[in-house]
Amino acid sequence: MCRKFRACLRLTEKWLNPNRIRRSQVSRTKVKTGFEEESELSISTESEKNGAIKQEVPEVVTAKTTKKRKTKADKEAEAMPLRPRTQGLRMFVGAHVSAAKGVFNAVNNSMQIGGNAFALFLKSQRKWDNPALQDDHRDQFCQSCSEQEYNAAKHVLPHGSYLVNLAQEDNAKAKQAYNSFLDDLQRCEALGINLYNFHPGSAGQTTLPSALTRLAKALTNALAATSTVTPVLETMCGQGTTIGGSLNEFRDIIAQIPKEHHSRIGICIDTCHSHAAGYDLASPTGFKAFLKEFDEVIGLQFLRALHLNDSKTPRGSHRDLHANIGTGFLGLRAFHNIMNEPTFEDMPMILETPIDRPVSNASRPPTTDTSSATAAHEACASEDSESDLSEPEKPTKKSKAKAKKPTARLIADPSVWANEISLLESLIGMDPESLEFRSLEANLADEGREMREKHQEQHDRKVEAEEKKKKKAAEKGQKSLMDMMKGSSAGKGKKKTADP
Ligand SMILES: [Zn+2]
Ligand SMILES: [Zn+2]
Repeated sequence: MCRKFRACLRLTEKWLNPNRIRRSQVSRTKVKTGFEEESELSISTESEKNGAIKQEVPEVVTAKTTKKRKTKADKEAEAMPLRPRTQGLRMFVGAHVSAAKGVFNAVNNSMQIGGNAFALFLKSQRKWDNPALQDDHRDQFCQSCSEQEYNAAKHVLPHGSYLVNLAQEDNAKAKQAYNSFLDDLQRCEALGINLYNFHPGSAGQTTLPSALTRLAKALTNALAATSTVTPVLETMCGQGTTIGGSLNEFRDIIAQIPKEHHSRIGICIDTCHSHAAGYDLASPTGFKAFLKEFDEVIGLQFLRALHLNDSKTPRGSHRDLHANIGTGFLGLRAFHNIMNEPTFEDMPMILETPIDRPVSNASRPPTTDTSSATAAHEACASEDSESDLSEPEKPTKKSKAKAKKPTARLIADPSVWANEISLLESLIGMDPESLEFRSLEANLADEGREMREKHQEQHDRKVEAEEKKKKKAAEKGQKSLMDMMKGSSAGKGKKKTADP
């Protein structure tokens, strides 16, 4: 197993480990989830000022639930969606919503934010052992989808477990990963879902070609064992030995899967990931070139879904940090490109943007209604955090001293998604030269300016350090080569010096 992947798993475990509670840091706030129960979520963040390291991911200190009977008025208020779904669109935008307490709950959670598509986890993405899908949960899911007019076959895109690495080298672990993967595919088929998004995994200590072969073999077996579901490979940010940063890797995977299965293999473009991997999706020409390359290298017939996320980090940073639409390095223009691209019609477009907001300042979108905050943040936050495999920078002495860790109380605020869906849908057919677009674009860019500057600085520092390291290594290499040459030329006479 690769170091990076193990680090990711450790991070996952650490993040989810209840023992992680630091009593001194505990701050509590009552959060009414609006769906199931009253939760006490306590979240703390570390602040970053003058070089102190900010923890990107809110730390869930404790989540305790208490049962409380709801009044009729409470229930009615909860049933009210934050925004109605837009009818008659050819673009199907939604978010990765919570499926806590049963997959059927995801349908209502998507309704709440006016999503015309949605993503969910089919089981806990944190552990290997999960109870089987209950028949009544399955029936309720199917019934809700038909009542609410969601086409589960087309517009529901479950997300695979972060634990699963189908390119795993270790036999026992590969078997465990495959079984969990196949189990998810079978759940999809039981629920009438035809698309299933998952991360391609990582090569670990092995070579990339061998990892792609293992992944292709596992996928082929899973395809042979199922009949209707299409596994959809997600584009990644290309960090470390992670598979899926380059489009070429998808071509190489597909090439190793028998043609008879090709109609049931899909690719999902995650805008944040592909941007971080180095592709230009922001400018209209860059976006067109990206799609052209996708078509030439893989074939657009394989494109089945999108994850719509802006990026906190610059292009080519190989970091996976999702930002709210229009506030990151992609900017609103990137999403204008997407919302007006006919190729993406009828595909699920899923938001995985951050929705945690400070309690005192949960007012980013004007329609914020904190009483209907949902546990859905679990889905979003984990995508953001667990897929960020970058090793945290070591805090300097100075920053350690300054890291006083003031706690900020955060709650999940699904109205952020409701507003982002409205925003994205409004881009369909909008003139990008119009005053309306220009001002939307400028306002959102302004909102994210500080965050972008911070990450640009971090990125520049990292690049500079890497350059220095490379230069040092090259000098060292040249020196030892020269020494070697001197030694050999002393014995054998004159020899041409090799290039460094
Ligand atoms: Zn991500
Ligand atoms: Zn993902």
